[in-house]
Order: sequence, then C-alpha cells, then structure tokens
Amino acid sequence: MAEEKKRIGVMGGTFDPIHIGHLTIAEAAREALRLAEVIFIPAAEPPHKPERRGASAEHRLRLTQLAVGSNPFFRALDVEMKRKGPSYSYDTLRALVETHGDHADFYFIIGGDELNTIFTWHRILELFSLCHFAAARRKGAPISLTDVRARLGEEVLSRIHCVETPELEISSTDIRRRLQEGRSIRYLVPESVETYIYKEGLYQ
Ligand code: ATP
Ligand code: MG
Repeated sequence: MAEEKKRIGVMGGTFDPIHIGHLTIAEAAREALRLAEVIFIPAAEPPHKPERRGASAEHRLRLTQLAVGSNPFFRALDVEMKRKGPSYSYDTLRALVETHGDHADFYFIIGGDELNTIFTWHRILELFSLCHFAAARRKGAPISLTDVRARLGEEVLSRIHCVETPELEISSTDIRRRLQEGRSIRYLVPESVETYIYKEGLYQ
C-alpha cells in the first residue's frame, strides 16, 4: 500500500495585519484535513492590490511571525518577500513542491469568498495541479462552485475541500480603519500583534 503523504497547509495573504480570522481558518483546516503543519506566507507585492497603503513587507512578516509563534503547527515563511516582482501563488507553490519533492500534498487555505474570483488567478489550472484548496466558509459570502465549474471544468472540483469554520466577520481593512480612528482592536488580533502595532505606530 502506498504510504500516505504528509499534508501541508499553505496560508497566503497580505496579512496587513494578520488577525484572528486568518488564524481560525488555518486551525480549522489543519484539524479537518489532518495537516501536519500550516505555512503562513505573507505576500510581498500583492498582484491584486497595487495601490494598497499599509505596513511594509518587513512589518507584515514580523506580525505574522508573532501571531503564529504560539502554535507548534504554524510557521511563517518569507519566500514571497525574497522574490523580486509580484508574487503569484503559482510561483510559491512551485517552489514548495520543488523543495518537498513527492513527499507532501499541499492544501492552499483560502476564505470561501476567494472561490468567486479564483478563476482569475495567474495560471490557475496549473496551480490546481500543484495543490488542493481548502475553502473556509466566510460570512456573507456563501460558497458557490457554479462559476468555478463553468470556467475551470468539473475536474478541479475534487481538489476543493470546504472547511466549516466559525464565521468571524473580521478583516484587515476593518482593523486598519479602527486604528486610524483610534478605536480598539483588542481580541480581533493576538495580543502580541496588538502590542507590536502600537509599539511601531503602524496604521495610524
Ligand atoms: P483585506 O481587508 O486587506 O483584504 P483580509 O482580512 O481579507 O484583508 P487577506 O490577507 O486579504 O485578509 O486574506 C488572506 C486570506 O484569508 C484570504 O483567502 C481571505 O479570504 C481569508 N480571510 C481573511 N479574513 C477572513 C475571515 N474573517 N474569515 C475567513 N477567511 C478570511
Ligand atoms: Mg482580502
């Protein structure tokens, strides 16, 4: 019988800043799909958000490291930040697959709302051949696979796994807005993240 491959979760995002919503879906996917670990990869230059105004790549990486530090199954990786130019998930997964050879299966963890636009991603069909997707149900954005099926075909559906998560209506956008308005972000981000944001005066 073939040996079961190690399953590795990949959590990509701008993480500007990382919040409890990100950590919750990663932990839910880890548990539901029996992932050996989840690698958090902050994007250097998000291809979809060129005009974004937020924290530097270095600050976002540090915030991510602080947030995942207390979970032995989580770690942060700076592969996208080391690469020049826009970082595409396809390039990142290719690099991970090359590093781990045939010994691992990758599960890209995304908010369910991402499925509505996933067919616009760079080299999406090739990405589906490199990894599975773990889609978390996110409030206000019910998961519909109709568009994905219509645009990418029936075959990709077997690579999409829906994961039930507590629905947390938290976004980085809302956290940045709160900070600008001098409002509380307590309990929306880990305490270590909150402390670092104030110490460095981010998003003020
Ligand atoms: P922004 O408001 O700046 O767009 P965000 O909160 O959406 O930030 P991202 O870094 O853009 O965070 O998201 C990374 C991934 O996490 C995406 O797949 C997104 O769908 C998912 N995600 C973010 N917040 C939540 C949440 N509260 N519940 C479930 N998934 C989430
Ligand atoms: Mg977003």
